[in-house]
Order: sequence, then structure tokens, then C-alpha cells
Amino acid sequence: MERAMHKSTLLMAGAVLALSACASQPAPEPIAGLPVPGAPAVGEVDAPDLVVVISVDSLSSQLLEEYLPLMNGGLARLSREGTLFLNAYQAHSMTETCPGHATLLTGSHPARSGIIANRWIDIDRPADERVIYCAEDPDAPGDDMVISASPLKVPTLGAYMKAAHPGSRNVSIAGKDRAAVMMGGRQVDQRWWWGNEGWISDLDRPTPPVVAAATVATQTLIDAGSTGLEMTEYCAAKPEVIAEGQWRVGDGRLGWAAGDSGAFRRTPGYDGAVLALGAALIDDMQLGRSSDAPDLISLGLSATDYVSHAFGPDGGEACLQMFSLDRNLEGFLDLLDARELDYAVVLTADHGAPHLPERLALQGIQTGRMAPDLNSSAIAEVERQLPELPENWVAGEAPYDMYVARDLDAGLRAQAIAALKATYAAHPQIEAVFTREEIEATPMPAGNPANWTLLQRKRAGHDPERSGDLAFVLTEYRTPIERPGPTFISHHSSPWDYDRRVPIAFYRPGQAPVNRPDVARTVDILPTLAAHLGLSLGGTEIDGVCLDGVHGKRCGN
Ligand SMILES: [Zn+2]
Repeated sequence: MERAMHKSTLLMAGAVLALSACASQPAPEPIAGLPVPGAPAVGEVDAPDLVVVISVDSLSSQLLEEYLPLMNGGLARLSREGTLFLNAYQAHSMTETCPGHATLLTGSHPARSGIIANRWIDIDRPADERVIYCAEDPDAPGDDMVISASPLKVPTLGAYMKAAHPGSRNVSIAGKDRAAVMMGGRQVDQRWWWGNEGWISDLDRPTPPVVAAATVATQTLIDAGSTGLEMTEYCAAKPEVIAEGQWRVGDGRLGWAAGDSGAFRRTPGYDGAVLALGAALIDDMQLGRSSDAPDLISLGLSATDYVSHAFGPDGGEACLQMFSLDRNLEGFLDLLDARELDYAVVLTADHGAPHLPERLALQGIQTGRMAPDLNSSAIAEVERQLPELPENWVAGEAPYDMYVARDLDAGLRAQAIAALKATYAAHPQIEAVFTREEIEATPMPAGNPANWTLLQRKRAGHDPERSGDLAFVLTEYRTPIERPGPTFISHHSSPWDYDRRVPIAFYRPGQAPVNRPDVARTVDILPTLAAHLGLSLGGTEIDGVCLDGVHGKRCGN
């Protein structure tokens, strides 16, 4: 069964590739986006013709450390035969998909990119329009959400590449819209994510036949259903637990009922579908075929995150997912090799993930999920202390930012913020509460993020325009879910290292493997790739620094 499913995802890649051979390339269109300062190529560099950036959603370093010695596929190849940083950090808080992906190719912390969380609140809007999704155009007319890169305040690698080489193409594909949007940025030639009934895009352009074919192939796979993978001996040894006394997890096999696209997302087949479309577009657009203008393709593999949320990152299900990911990536790398492309790969993650509290308990760490009444009781207490507070005086809930209405009397507003801080801080599940003033008085941290204080981690994730009046940190290992559901029993987002520490692997065929023990940050990826591509960033301010010595290259030379 395991082998059969692996084969089916790769077969799908083959089917899509076959169709792509006769598909035409979409007509180029003028691209409107952020202005990027002129950035000519500098110096002589042995730049690759194709840069492949792979984000494995929720792949913590801890997860990779466990499975890497047991793997022999594509994930192992990228990690073992590349330059591997296991002590790399998504340095900021909140450690979520949108801000995490926004650091990867911008060199910028959320404080600079503006992508502070998956959602934030605009307290000045009417109560039913306050929640802003990180990848939507908040000013789009109508009730339907319009996916857009407009909230991203900084350019991505693709824009710098285009500024230096007008012929460079920038392609972004992911299992989640926000991953595709944040990696592709504003100046993107093709952007696709799975929208439950097909591969969809925010770009107003014709759908290439190769993408239409991928929709048919993916839908066919979903409609077929699967009983899942065969449980291996290693994965079967993971303890089964009953989360919240209701949901038994640990021995799931990652199957899906015919037509159940939600369950399909929680399987390796979902990553396979993204990789298959990526491979198809590489062929269809002839990416990486020009040594004058390098191309970029970003691939967001979301299944690990969906598996982690539904079953925890530490059960038999995540175990099956890791080995399947390893094989799916092997198939993808084989396709690149077969085309004899001069390519480089960077593999990393948008955030890590905490263990399930039920499994931590087996290890002697007694913790749990957020108290269901943590927020409601704290707000009720503040309203008891300050009965003059009007309706809708506060929005948002811990551990996300809280926003206090700005039209309150200044004295009452200050009292409300102080009362919120004191009330939350007294709760045994709360580690720290910071006010906007405390965060904004903190200089932007630099250097080794392992040594940053909680306040500094919040500072790197704070945008004065979008962040709240209060920021919260739950105690370590406390799962930030007030009301768990059957596919949502585990969640990241904290400033603790299990959510921050992620791998970064730089791989280029023929380069010597190096295991780097030193610390890196995901914001360092952009300047490092820019150096490898011979790109100038045109004096744009970023937070990352070029990582010296990757693939034997010295930064600044
Ligand atoms: Zn997630």
C-alpha cells in the first residue's frame, strides 16, 4: 500500500509532465508591483540557472533530527549532501504560516514585512470587518475575500531577480494560498494553490493547459480515495494517545475517503500534487534553461502542517508523512536531474511545532491546552473593575494580540490596558504580557536569536501599524488551542524554540556537504541567495545577512 501510494503521486507527476510537452507558454504580461531599485548583476559568479525554494510547512529541526538518520530519499539528499543548518530560526513571534513564509525570500522579520500573523485586527474598521487575513486585499470591494500580495510591504527574491534580469521568471506553487503569496511576492509570473476544486490563482491571467491538466489529475486522485499507507515498524512504535479524552491519534494511516479534499490535504499525496505541478511548470515554461536570466520556483509543501495539526507532529501519522515526504522529494530531484538543469535548492520551514500535551505527559512534562475560559474570564474581570467600558471596547484574544478601541477616553483606555495586562499576567498559564509601548521601546534585536528575550522575539514580530496593544506568551509547552476539534488538536505560534527552530538546507549538485553547527536565521536566506546569484539588493534595508561559506562562497566577494 505504501509503495502503491508513492507510485501514484509520482505517476501523477508523469501524467502532468506528459501533457505539458505540448502545452504552450502563457503570453507574458506587464507586471505591476513594488518598485525595486536598479540591481545589476555584480562580479563573476557561478550562478545557478534555476533556484528552487522548498518550504515544508511545520518542519521543525527537532522533527528532521529524528528522521534524517533513517532516511535515504530526497529530503536526506538535500540535508546530507548540502550545507545544513539545524540551528536556524524563524526568530520572531507569532510563529505562523504567513509570517514564516514572508521571512523566507524577503530577508525581513515581520516587523518589516508587515506580515505579523495569519490574521490581525484593524480596530478602526466596523466590528464585522475588523479581521484582516494576511494574504487578502483588505480594500477589495464586495463580501468575498480577494487573495492578494498587497499586505506584503517588502520585495521578494523574484523581484530582485527581475530587476537584474528582465527575462527571469518567478513561479510560486503551494498547498496554501498564503504560502504561495508570501514566497512569490508581488512580481510573479505564475502562482497557484489548491482551492478544493482546482488549482487557482490571484493573477488575472489565462490558465495554462498544463495547470488545467494538473487540476484534472489532482481531482482524479482525490476522487479515487485511499485507505492510506502501510504502517511501518518504526512508525507503529509511536505511542497512541487520546487527545482531550476524545480523539484517538497515533495509528492513523493518512488515507482519505473518495472525494474528501479536506482529508487529502493531510496526506503525502497533497505534497506530491504540488511537486507534480511544479515539475510540470518547469517543463512547460522551460525554467532554468537560460544562463543569462536565472529563474525561481517556490514550492510550499503544506501536508506536514496539516498532519501535525490533526495528529500531532510526534505520532505514527507524522512518521509516515516524513518518510513519504523524503520519497516525494526524491522523485522531484530525479526529475530535475533528468533534465540536466543547473539548479540549486533551498529547503526550510515556516515554523516548527510543539509536541502534543498528551505525549509530553508520557515524557514527564505536565502541561495541556489553554483553559477554555482564559480569555472570557480575564475580560470579564477587567469589565468588573472598569464598569464604564462601552460595548466593543476590545478585540482579539490571547495568545494573539489584543486591541483596545482607540476612541475610548485616553485615561480609561490606559486603565483598560493596564488592567488587561495585570489580569492576564496573573493567570498561571501566561508567561508574559507586553504592552505596545514596551515592545516599541525595545530596539530591533540582531545576532543570535537563540539568546533573544521573549520581548525581543515579540519586537521582531511587531508592526506598529498592524500589531495590537497587548502581546501575550503562554507558558512553555502550553498548547495555544482553547477549543480543540478533531482535525485541530495541536498548534504552533509561540515564541518558544520548538516553534522557532527550523532547518535550512542549501543544496547544489556537486558542492561539498557541510553540516553547519552555527546559528542562522530564515531572514538570512535572501541575502545568501542574492550573493550566489550575483544580485545587488540595491541598498534596500533588510534584517538578514549573507551566510558566509555556503557552497564555498565568501559573502562580499
Ligand atoms: Zn500550521
